[in-house]
Amino acid sequence: MNVIFFSSKAYDKQFFQEANQQHGFALNFMEMPLTTATAILAKGHEVVCVFVNDTVSADILQVLAEQGVKLIALRSAGFNNVDLKAAAAVGIKVVRVPAYSPFSVAEHTIALILTLNRKTHRAYNRVKEGNFSLNGLMGFDLYGKTAGLIGLGKIGLCTARILKGFGCRVLGYDMVETEEQREIGIEFSSLDRLYRESDIVSLHCPLTPQTYHIINEDAISKMKKGVMLINTSRGALVDTKAVIVGLKSEQISNLGLDVYEEEADLFFEDLSNKVIQDDVFMRLLSFNNVLITGHQAFFTSNALQSIAEVTLQNIADFAANRELENEVQ
Ligand code: NAD
Repeated sequence: MNVIFFSSKAYDKQFFQEANQQHGFALNFMEMPLTTATAILAKGHEVVCVFVNDTVSADILQVLAEQGVKLIALRSAGFNNVDLKAAAAVGIKVVRVPAYSPFSVAEHTIALILTLNRKTHRAYNRVKEGNFSLNGLMGFDLYGKTAGLIGLGKIGLCTARILKGFGCRVLGYDMVETEEQREIGIEFSSLDRLYRESDIVSLHCPLTPQTYHIINEDAISKMKKGVMLINTSRGALVDTKAVIVGLKSEQISNLGLDVYEEEADLFFEDLSNKVIQDDVFMRLLSFNNVLITGHQAFFTSNALQSIAEVTLQNIADFAANRELENEVQ
């Protein structure tokens, strides 16, 4: 099997080459993203391996099909960037990595909560400059606070377990209610109640037409004054402009983002010598109670190893004509 990777980084190469020792596929790593201009490079490859910000749209799928591509192997859990109908229409199958390390994303969610709350990012800079003043660094005990989680899948449940360990009360909203949620001690809740009662709201649902901008002006107005909002799922779950209004009115007291709706033009690249043109993003950066990381929640060695192993196993199953356990339809 010839596999071409788009948007690949040195770390992808390292983990995929290691995992490929078992398979012996021909792996071709491209740093550039998959676009209408680069899709032609897939010629001679049966498999295209993409990441979260590669847009696999109908026109690109058409070009890929013409190059002889038979499989899109997502090295991610989310698949909102793929036009699945168009893929089926041109006879290209799509596989993903449904679970690699929910701990990686859940633990990063907690890192954002703790950093925003105890302001360790600001304290680090102050102490380096010999400023030991505590003014402005006051946080709150997580113990006894209410956290509301939207989406109780693998990552949501893992986050809930950690928050329970802190002594938080955890409210959860999902399409499905399960025994596991009850065992963890999550109180299943309506969205309105979750907004009304939560000190921290954290998003763990996928991006779908139903969840697009689930956090909008109306949702924010229903939240507790001074809520902390965390998004480690997908950027477009949050209406960024509405959130900026919420930050200015102090309805939102802390915002932690690992994802951003227009991140494709920014994240995973070093733009430190460029002028960033996204005014909404730059406005977000101007708040001292906003903490943004560049889609790194998944980024642990355990997760990367698992992503590489599962992706190559998906390709091996396809090559051997076996049932595709991780096919997205
Ligand atoms: P999962 O499929 O295990 O869980 C998703 C949950 O969301 C399910 O329980 C589902 O029922 C629920 N859900 C679906 N639609 C909903 C809705 N409208 N309202 C409320 N709940 C809804 O997925 P997961 O592994 O827990 O991952 C969750 C999301 O995290 C992914 O979709 C992905 O977007 C994001 N993610 C981010 C990173 C990162 O690095 N930042 C890494 C991996 C995953």
